[in-house]
Amino acid sequence: MSVEANWQEIQTTIEQACRNCGRDLEEVTVVAVTKYVTVERAREALAAGINHLGENRMKGFLEKYETIGNDAIWHFIGSLQSRKVKEIINDVDYIHSLDRKSLAKEIDKRADSPVSCFLQVNVSGEESKHGMALDEVEAFVEWLEAYPNVQVIGLMTMAPHVEDEETLRGTFRKLRAMRDRIRDKQYPHAPCQELSMGMSNDYKLAIEEGATFIRLGSSLVG
Ligand SMILES: *Cc1c(COP(=O)(O)O)cnc(C)c1O
Repeated sequence: MSVEANWQEIQTTIEQACRNCGRDLEEVTVVAVTKYVTVERAREALAAGINHLGENRMKGFLEKYETIGNDAIWHFIGSLQSRKVKEIINDVDYIHSLDRKSLAKEIDKRADSPVSCFLQVNVSGEESKHGMALDEVEAFVEWLEAYPNVQVIGLMTMAPHVEDEETLRGTFRKLRAMRDRIRDKQYPHAPCQELSMGMSNDYKLAIEEGATFIRLGSSLVG
């Protein structure tokens, strides 16, 4: 299927989800995750009007960035080794995977200006998943005040690979509750208004639970 055709279908689903919960379509930004596909396919997403692209590995990001450059808004969504930060930090627009102090320090040191970051949270506590525990988030945010190039714009999570709707909703709700707590503290360095949650198999639920960024790979670009 063409990206355009996938996009039509996805837009219908997003509209339904927004209608179900009384949200405005403009509140949801779609990030096309191009990690499985070629530069040409990524360009199809841009042609369809999706200008946010996401990559989860250094190599994939650099390959695509080299040809697409500033035609896209770039999201780095995968785990990031501290020693590689300098290779990408001034080319990406958003980092979704900030999950530890060493990484925050390196971002702060290498970035020329404040970088929009999501703290990655392992809400479900699965051992295979990256991210900090929910109960570590508040102290981490307070600690980050000393690192002005790290701007905490929101929280990110990957839900468990299950079908059960209540499990998925429960994961999203916990992240949202933590987002609300931090947002309400009105830290200048951590406005924390965004929620990056929802992938191809669960984005409808994520939108109903408040997602402001959804990350779509297989369903959108393949
Ligand atoms: C691959 C990936 C996605 C997209 O996954 P799909 O299920 O293909 O939509 C979203 N977020 C992260 C962090 C990913 O690594």
